[in-house]
Amino acid sequence: MKLDSLGDWQRTHTCGELRAAVVGKTVRLLGWVQRRRDLGQLIFLDLRDRYGLTQVVLRQDTHPGVHARGGEVRPEFVVGVEGAVAKREKSNPNLPTGEVEVVAARLDILNDARTPPFPIEEEVTASEETRLRHRYLDLRRPPLQRNLALRHRVALALRRALDTEGFYEIETPFLTRSTPEGARDYLVPSRVHPGHFYALPQSPQIFKQLLMIAGFDRYFQLVRCFRDEDLRADRQPEFTQLDLEMAFATRDAVFAVIERALAAACEAAIGVKIAPPFPRLTHAEALARYGTDKPDTRFTMELKDVSPVFESARETLKIALPVHALTAPGAAGYSRKQLDALAELAKHQGARALYYVKVTDSGLQSPLEKTLGAAGLEKLRELTTARAGDLILIVPSDEPAAAGRAHGTASTALGALRLHLARELKLIPEGKWNFLWVTDFPLFEWSAAENRWVSSHHPFTAPVEEDVARLETEQGTVRSQAYDLVLNGWELGSGSIRIHRQDIQQRIFRVLGLSDEEAKERFGFFLEALTYGTPPHGGIALGLDRIAALLAGADSLREVIAFPKTTAAQDLMADAPASVPQSQLDELGISFKPSRKI
Ligand code: ASP
Repeated sequence: MKLDSLGDWQRTHTCGELRAAVVGKTVRLLGWVQRRRDLGQLIFLDLRDRYGLTQVVLRQDTHPGVHARGGEVRPEFVVGVEGAVAKREKSNPNLPTGEVEVVAARLDILNDARTPPFPIEEEVTASEETRLRHRYLDLRRPPLQRNLALRHRVALALRRALDTEGFYEIETPFLTRSTPEGARDYLVPSRVHPGHFYALPQSPQIFKQLLMIAGFDRYFQLVRCFRDEDLRADRQPEFTQLDLEMAFATRDAVFAVIERALAAACEAAIGVKIAPPFPRLTHAEALARYGTDKPDTRFTMELKDVSPVFESARETLKIALPVHALTAPGAAGYSRKQLDALAELAKHQGARALYYVKVTDSGLQSPLEKTLGAAGLEKLRELTTARAGDLILIVPSDEPAAAGRAHGTASTALGALRLHLARELKLIPEGKWNFLWVTDFPLFEWSAAENRWVSSHHPFTAPVEEDVARLETEQGTVRSQAYDLVLNGWELGSGSIRIHRQDIQQRIFRVLGLSDEEAKERFGFFLEALTYGTPPHGGIALGLDRIAALLAGADSLREVIAFPKTTAAQDLMADAPASVPQSQLDELGISFKPSRKI
C-alpha cells in the first residue's frame, strides 16, 4: 500500500474538540482509525486520538477519490483528514463531538497497522498477560489514557503545592548503598570495582536526611524506589514515592504540608474537595477499634473488648484474654456454610477460634450458651449493642499479649473479618475519601524469626523523648515519633521525626543488634554527618502509584503505571529480566551456580 508522508501537515483540532459552533469550517485532524463502517456510498471512520473521537464521513458522490482511498483503511491505521465540519443528521449524545462529523475532502494514510491482538476499546476481554505483552496497545485504550492523565495531574498538583511551600525538588542517586527499609536490595555489579555492588535505593531516606544536614531546609522528590520483595499483593518492584523532608519539623508541620498537598492533588485529579485537618488515631486505638493499623473508617463496625464476659470461662474454653467482638449488622441469618467460611478466614489470620451469637427476634442463639449461660450471652449483646438481626462474632486470644508484641491475634483476625464482612454486606459507601493519620507506633517489634528487635519503621525514626531512657531496658514499651497516612483502608505511606543526634542513632543501631563496627561499615558516613550540626528534622514518603490508583478507582497499581511489572516481577513486553551474553558476565567477573532455587 502506498503511504503518504506527514510533510508539513499539522492538525487544526484534536479529535475531541469539534462542536456544533464550528460547523462549516474546514479542519484537519490526525489520529488512529477506531472503526470503519462501509455503507457503500458512504464510509464512516471514527478517528481517535488522546483527546477523543470524531466521526469522519467519506462520500462517494462528492469526493470519489477520497472514498476509494477509504476502502483501504483498517482499524488502527494512522490517518490525516481534511474537510468541512457538518452537522450530523442524528447526533450521538454519548460523544462530546457527537453533534458533528467531518466530510473528508482529503485522506492521507500515514501508516498501516496489523490487526491488534485485542480491540482498542473501553473494555477488553483479553488476558492481562496479552495486554502487558502489547502494553503500547493497551495504553491506547481510553481507561489507561485517563488513568495516566490523572496521574499526571496528581504529580503536577503535588509539585505545585510543594513549590508554593518552599520545597526544592532535588534528585538523589540510584546507584548507591543499601538503605534499610526492611526489604531485599536490588544489586548492580560494578565493572570498575570487581566484586563490589551498588544497591538500588529502597528509598532516598539517608540522602534526604543528608540534604537537611546540608541546609536545604525543605526537600521533596517524586522518586523511584526499588524493593526486591515477594510480590504476592499488589506491589511493584519499582514504585514511585512522593518523598519529602523538612528541617526543624514538628509532626504537625509535616501533617499540615501533606494535607494541603493532597487536598490540591484530589481536587486536580477528580475535582473532590477534601477538608484538612485529617483525623488522627493512635496505633493502639486503631488496633483496639478496628483490628488493624490501617483502618478503613468509611464504615463503623468497631471492635469491642468483651473480656469481662469470658473471665470465668477461660479454662473451659482454653483461651486467654483479651477477647474481642464485632457486630455484623443484619447477618443473623448466616448459614452454617457462611459461618464456616468466616471461621476459616479467622483461622487463616491466626485466630484460635471464632465464636458467634445470633441475635434473633426470638432470642440469642449461640454454641457458647452452654459455657456462658443466657446471662453471659445477654451481657455480650449489651457490650456490643447488637440488635435483632445482627450477628456477633467473637475471637479470643491464644496467649496473653506480650510486651512488645504490637497486638494480639484476636484483634487482627477480627480486623480482617470486619473488612471481609463490610464487602460482603455492602457496607462501604462509594465516593468517600477518608484520610487518617495513625500515630504513636512502637519503635521496635520483636522478630521471633531473627530473635532480635527490629524497627517498626526504619532505624532513623526518633523515639519519643521521655522513652529514650528505656531504650536498652524496655524496648517493647518505647514509643516512636512515626506516623502513617491511611486512605480508605490503604496505607499511603509513613514518615517520622528523625533521630538527629549521633549518640542516640548509635544506641538504636545497638538495640537492633548492629555492632559498632557493623554500624560504622554500613552507615559510617551517615553517623559522621550527624556530628556536623544536624538540625532536628522529619518527613514522610507516600506511594504515588497507590494514590493515583485510589483516586482513579483502579483495581491494581498496574492500571496507573505506564510500564508495570507482573506479580512475578517481569516486564512481559520487554521480556525483562533476561539473560545476558557471557562476555558481559565475564567483564563483571560474575559466574552462576546453575541450579539455584528461590
Ligand atoms: N523512607 C521511608 C519509606 O520509604 C519514609 C520516611 O520515613 O520518610 O517508607
